[in-house]
Amino acid sequence: MSPVRSEGWIAGLRRFTHGAEPEQRCEMCSAVIRADHRHLMQISERRLLCCCHACAVLFGNGAENNYRLIPTRSQQLTDADFVLTDAQWDTLQIPIDIAFFFKSTPLSRVVALYPGPAGTTESSLDLSAWEELQAESPVLAALAPDVEALLINRAHGARDYYRVPIDQCYALTGIIRTHWHGLTGGTEAWAAIHRFFVGLHANAAAPERSFHA
Ligand SMILES: [Zn+2]
Ligand SMILES: [Zn+2]
Repeated sequence: MSPVRSEGWIAGLRRFTHGAEPEQRCEMCSAVIRADHRHLMQISERRLLCCCHACAVLFGNGAENNYRLIPTRSQQLTDADFVLTDAQWDTLQIPIDIAFFFKSTPLSRVVALYPGPAGTTESSLDLSAWEELQAESPVLAALAPDVEALLINRAHGARDYYRVPIDQCYALTGIIRTHWHGLTGGTEAWAAIHRFFVGLHANAAAPERSFHA
């Protein structure tokens, strides 16, 4: 009798009795993937895809131009990296205090999105305002197109800015969509948003389901 096999069986039974989430598969090749898998961005559709290690290596190396591997590292920006005055924020005309910005290859411009209970909404960004920001904060020029974003959190007096993998922005959007109630969100939603930012500080993974919510 193989001990490995029996361990697998017990683990399987445990998963079954605890009602774990169904196994996940790579959206490129259908291989079973682990909970801490990587994500690919399908550029033309702006679509997030869960992928296995082999596909991450293959497509991450540019095997297909329409896919790009999403990086994993988040970085909180310091005052030395990024400056945004309240007046500059106002010119960006984002109606809520959380937003993210990324460079879109298909659109050849910077896209500003803000999350809400119905998903993300695109803001018509004044490009000159972005260029002004970028002139003062070169980190913005370094953002990898389509897969990295500037994430802004000015909610409840925060002035936090992050360079993040774009899947984190999808996760935050999923969290807001799942928990938001009424006009102001409610305490449950804001507790979940707070947990997301605490996790971002610790470079912890957001719950997988939030990426696809
Ligand atoms: Zn795969
Ligand atoms: Zn995934």
